[in-house]
Formats: sequence, C-alpha cells, structure tokens
Amino acid sequence: MATRRRPSFDSHNPVTDEVVGTYPIMNKGDVADAVAHARAASSQWQALGFSDRKKVLLAWSSLIIKRIEQIAALVSLETGKPLSDARLEVSIAVSQIGWAARHAESIMRTSYRRPGLLMANMAATVERSPFGVVGVIGPWNYPIFTPVGSIAYALAAGNTVVFKPSEFTPGVGMWLEEIFSEVAPFADIFTTITGLGETGGALCVSDIDKLSFTGSTRTAKLVAAQCASVMVPVVLECGGKDPVIVAADADMKRAVDATMWSAMANAGQSCIGAERVYVDEKVADEFIARAIELAATIHAGAPGDGNYGPATMPAQIKVIQSHIKAAIADGGTCVYGGPQSVKAPFVQPVVLVDVPENSKAVREETFGPIIIINRVASMSQAIELANASRYGLGANVWSKRRGKSIASQLQCGMVAINSTFAFAAVASVPFGGVKDSGSGRVHGPEGFLEYTYARTVVRTRFYLPLKFLSFKRRPQDDKLVIALTRMLKGRLG
Ligand code: NAD
Repeated sequence: MATRRRPSFDSHNPVTDEVVGTYPIMNKGDVADAVAHARAASSQWQALGFSDRKKVLLAWSSLIIKRIEQIAALVSLETGKPLSDARLEVSIAVSQIGWAARHAESIMRTSYRRPGLLMANMAATVERSPFGVVGVIGPWNYPIFTPVGSIAYALAAGNTVVFKPSEFTPGVGMWLEEIFSEVAPFADIFTTITGLGETGGALCVSDIDKLSFTGSTRTAKLVAAQCASVMVPVVLECGGKDPVIVAADADMKRAVDATMWSAMANAGQSCIGAERVYVDEKVADEFIARAIELAATIHAGAPGDGNYGPATMPAQIKVIQSHIKAAIADGGTCVYGGPQSVKAPFVQPVVLVDVPENSKAVREETFGPIIIINRVASMSQAIELANASRYGLGANVWSKRRGKSIASQLQCGMVAINSTFAFAAVASVPFGGVKDSGSGRVHGPEGFLEYTYARTVVRTRFYLPLKFLSFKRRPQDDKLVIALTRMLKGRLG
C-alpha cells in the first residue's frame, strides 16, 4: 500500500527565489496534539515559579545572543533584509525577553484593594494568574522581534506557548524553538508549528486559552471571528498607515533623515513605518528637497549590497505598483522614482507629493519603500488628516515646541516626538494600536498583563453584626444602608 506523503511547503530566499527549507503543513490533528502537549506541560511550568522561569528565559536570551550571527543570517536569508538590520532586530528581541523575565514577579504581584465601608470587614485582593496555553501567530516582516514580544511575555507569566510563524519565515520560527529546547527544563513549554493560513486557523479554534496575533488587518478579522466562535480572547496587532507631522519649527535635517529611514528601511515593510507626511506648507519645499536628496543616496538590493532588501512577499509588489499608479492618477506627483522603480523583487525609493487624501495610496497600507508628502496649512489640519484614517497604530511628530500638544491629539497607540520607531525598542512601554490597527497590547506591563487574568479574592477578616448578604437581613439594616448611602453620597463601596 502506498504511504501518503505529508503535505509540505517551501521557504524561499526572496532575492533569488531559491528554496531554503521545506516544512510540514500541520493539520488540525497536529495542532491539537501540540496544544495538548503544551497543556500537559503547563502546570509544571507554572509550578516552577518566577525565579526558575526567569533563569530559563535568561538562558534562552543568552543563547540567542551567543548565536546572533546564526539567527541574523537566517532572518536575512528568509526575508532578504540586510544582515545589520537582522542583527538589530535580534538585539531588540533579546531585550524584550530579559525585560519580561525580570519584571514578571512584580507585575503579577497580588494587589490589595480598599474594601469600602459596607465591606470593611473583608480583605480584598486581586491575583494575576497565567491563562494556561497561549497561541501566537506571527508575521514575516520582523520574524523574531514581533513574535518574541508575545512569546517571551506569555512564558514569563507562566503560560506554555504554541507558535505558528509566517509561512515566509518558518526557519526562524523553528530556530527559536530549537534554541529554547536547549535550555528548557522539560519538553513542550514552547513549541513551533509550521504551515499556511489553515494551520493558523486550526490554532485559533484549538484548546488554547488566549491567542496573540500579529499580521494584516484582513487576517486579524478572520482570526478574531474564529477565536470568537470558541470564546478564545485575542490580542490583535495589525497594519498601519502611520502619519508623520512636521511643524514649521522642526529640526528639518533630523526629521527628513528619520522619516526616510522609517519609510524605506526593511523595504518599507514595517507596520510602524512612515507612510504619510503632513508638513507645514512654510517648510514643505525644504522637506521635499531634502527627502529627494536623501532618496538618491539609498537603494534596494541583496543583503550586502542594498540599504534595504526586496519585497519579501512577491504578492506585495502588485499592491505597491497599484498605489504608485493610483497616487499619480488621482493627481499626485512623483518627485523621485515612479512606477519604473518597481523591478521585482526590488522596489527603489519613491517620493510622492500632493497626493489627494481620498487616493487609496493615502488610505491603504502600502508596505513598500514609498513616502507620500502632503502640505498642510496648519497643525490642526495635520492632526485632522492624520486622524482621518481607519488605522491608528503609531505616529511621529517633529516640532521643537509643540510636540507634546500635537501628540496628545492623535488617535493612535504610540507617538514618537522628534524620533521614530523608538517606542518599539523601549521594552517597558506598551505597543499596539487602535481602530483597524488592532486591540490589546504587547510589551511593557500592559502587554504582560494580556497573558494573565485577574482573579479577585475577598476574605472575611471578622464578622459584622449586620447581615447584608443573607436572608436574615433586617429592616434596620436596610435603613442603615440607605442612611449611609445618603450621608456618603453613594460612596459606600
Ligand atoms: P498576514 O495577515 O498575511 O499573516 C500573518 C499570519 O497569519 C501568518 O502566520 C499567516 O500564516 C497567518 N494566517 C493567515 N491566514 C490565517 C487564518 N485564516 N487564520 C489564522 N492565521 C492565518 O500578515 P503578514 O503578511 O505575515 O504580515 C504583514 C502585516 O502584519 C502587515 O499588515 C503589517 O502591518 C502587520 N504587522 C503588524 C505589527 C504590529 O505589531 N501591529 C507588526 C508586524 C507586522
């Protein structure tokens, strides 16, 4: 009898299209098995306690640092990004592991709450408990930094984790698991499963307790719907169309340098990459001239050659092309590059100006090395346009005097003033968006708490003669409650 071959998929070098690895497409049964093993390991991992879990996580991060050249090479091979970018990504990911390991105990410490007058005889506490098994689904653009921002925090909180990396970067996902297994005290604490979208779908409806998804808004909606069908809570980290606001008093040189890097680095494939600039008309010509000058000094190419690499996902090329064409057709002007800048798998820098706000190039995530620069008459107009997006992930504000005031009016999860991307590298602050950019947070105490749930425990310290929570409640008890409510103007609890 012929044996049925297990379905598999290939991972490619996006520069050469060469196959760099072949991985199994795990089906529903495989996913269920992985989750069952993770569940079986869960109580032992929890029982290890903060200090021993910290040792394991720090040993994991030390081993990653030791082998940074190996993992950076693999990230570069599967994504096409320059080695130097891959190294930076690994370094920031490692700092996330350390931060989560070191802060787990204090973030999860039981908190004591005031019981209020009516319940003065009770001790009220809130404990934080790990969920059990956390599923993590990751993207390919930052294949180590992004998933580690969920995996490390979930593990530090005492959960076991089943991770489904992107089908474009399965090798990086497998590497993370292999390195972890070298320091793990026992099996199944952290498992990587491989496959396409269906494998991710199977994880959503498996026996997990929470799912952390990072990827496109389109997939996030499918993930949220699948998780809702089995009441699995979700963290959704999705796409963006990040605005950059440049005031007349901005340090123009720094603003242009950071904005062009934010827009073009990683071939524009950053969820928090600059995509739209709203620059005060008084300084717009200078900003545009400097942007053109800078664009001329950078180019896409293979690792070792380009300032940034190819479009990792071949299908994105069409989206980028259509956005450049739409921007021009809708009335915008290409001041550097243009449709001819797209030569798959590379896209050379493109600078577009005065693109109408209703163009899909301004409204939709491009995820390519394209920057749109639009002039505004005032900072209130810049704020209004920045907010008139279905996305709300990050934003950058450039102003010497008005940074904080502009930042406070933006509808987004993160703002960098006179900087870019910085919030992603600060482990102690939450990362995430609003609107179509997602819900929930990763990183920092807020991101950490996503992998725990609150358990309230109230304990009787002594008994009162009054019985409020009993059928033995008397009319004089009612009177007392009403009198106290009136006297304290409702502040009984
Ligand atoms: P994607 O949505 O195509 O895929 C993400 C992951 O979801 C992959 O692992 C994929 O296999 C899986 N998946 C696909 N279909 C699924 C389904 N039906 N059920 C469950 N899982 C499924 O995204 P991508 O192309 O890998 O990543 C790029 C996107 O990610 C961009 O939009 C970018 O802005 C966003 N992103 C967001 C953040 C953030 O933190 N907000 C970070 C990085 C990337």
